[in-house]
Amino acid sequence: MKLTNQYAELDPQLCQTSQPYMVSEPTLLLWNSDLAEQLHLNQLPKDKRADYFSGQITLPGSQPVACAYAGHQFGHFNPQLGDGRAHLLGEISDGNSVFELQLKGSGQTPFSRNGDGLCTLAPALREYLMSEAMFYLGVPTTRCLAVVSTGDDVFREKSLPGAIATRVATSHVRVGTFEYFAARGQMDVVKKLADFVIARHYPNLTNSYNKYFDLLKAIIQKQIRLINHWLRVGFIHGVMNTDNTLLSGETIDYGPCAMLGVYHLATVYSSIDRRGRYAYGQQAAIMQWNMARLAECLIPLFNGDENQALQQAEAIIMAIPKQQSADFVTMMNRKLGFLEHVFSQQWIDGLLQRLQNQQLDYTQTFTALRNDLNDESPNPELGKQLGDYYQQWRQQVTDSNFKNVQQTMTQTNPLVIARNHDVENVLSAAIEDHDLQPFKTLLQVLQSPYEMTQNTTQFQQPAPDFDAGYRTFCGT
Ligand code: AMP
Ligand code: MG
Repeated sequence: MKLTNQYAELDPQLCQTSQPYMVSEPTLLLWNSDLAEQLHLNQLPKDKRADYFSGQITLPGSQPVACAYAGHQFGHFNPQLGDGRAHLLGEISDGNSVFELQLKGSGQTPFSRNGDGLCTLAPALREYLMSEAMFYLGVPTTRCLAVVSTGDDVFREKSLPGAIATRVATSHVRVGTFEYFAARGQMDVVKKLADFVIARHYPNLTNSYNKYFDLLKAIIQKQIRLINHWLRVGFIHGVMNTDNTLLSGETIDYGPCAMLGVYHLATVYSSIDRRGRYAYGQQAAIMQWNMARLAECLIPLFNGDENQALQQAEAIIMAIPKQQSADFVTMMNRKLGFLEHVFSQQWIDGLLQRLQNQQLDYTQTFTALRNDLNDESPNPELGKQLGDYYQQWRQQVTDSNFKNVQQTMTQTNPLVIARNHDVENVLSAAIEDHDLQPFKTLLQVLQSPYEMTQNTTQFQQPAPDFDAGYRTFCGT
């Protein structure tokens, strides 16, 4: 096992050399054995894992660096962000694909600005749990390989236990990485980056005639797919800044994310998102906005003159809402059990409006419909909640399509999601009572979200207060 440093070696301006801090007492709290197996990392000696994944010992071949990036945060451009508390250790292959290993919370870097470079235990555990939940829901995402507690205190309003999470991503190139170099007029680096992204994520475009234009189109396709997955499972990212948008189309940055309980498009939990810029129902529009920022970086690389390039870019950015809606309708038809378009956009909008008006829980409603297939007679409760929509849906299910409908619904509608109150409960048991067992129980349930397991029912209920006072936080 030997790490490569392909990204860091691509151009010296992409990253800066930086060493993780030494910590007092690195202790391995979580080890993702399945992911480690895939990456051939289970061969690392057990007693050394905490040292490796806190940066106390360098993995063979690894040259730790911090990466440069900029970003639009809540609509405002910040030309200088970068890995302020993360170290990219290098890449490892699973035999098919390349994965980057990154430590988060591993100390200050040249990009730390005023930050301490550290991470506390609760957000590290939270990222592990949420990203694994998303992975098993079938949503493209970065993952966590390990969480190591450092034995050092981190000061946030009070002293909190420090931790380091190891994040695994097919790459960490963000829209903000492109913005960093485009803003400095370094189009040679932008081009190198674009070629890197093509080689790593879109290799079929290598010989394409107008390849940077095609790259933008391909990235947009992945973003549409990603957002519709989020809408399918009720995920609210919470901080869709351009520095938190990966060109690989994976979900990244689990700081202030939350799950939707009661269906409402305006749902927002992040404490700093006061105007609801990143509310549940805004996510597709924000994705389009972020893609426009990426387009601005790539336009100079397109074929043809500047005017032509601009027009081409505009056309594909403007086409996003229509494509996203079409994919959304396909996705919602699947949630209702159909691979073909049985229900129109208008019908689906009406159904969702009904959920919103009736203040119904999103996951529970689709679970109830899923379970309803097994009942001969209509469920009066669902009839009351969904009105005519319920009857109209049932009418589409016939003896001949029943099996297919059931299978499609089973594959599309999770029985359990990482509900905000459950996540907070298991985190407080871990931090306050030093008891990781509740966390592990929830994690195990979330690893089979489409199936009933021994403990699933414990985690299917909405919060007693329906998340009324729930708040999430960034950069913790
Ligand atoms: P995030 O909110 O995690 O997307 O972070 C936004 C920016 O703030 C990134 O450049 C991070 O590296 C940086 N950052 C967040 N927390 C810290 C910290 N404790 N120390 C240094 N930089 C940080
Ligand atoms: Mg971030």
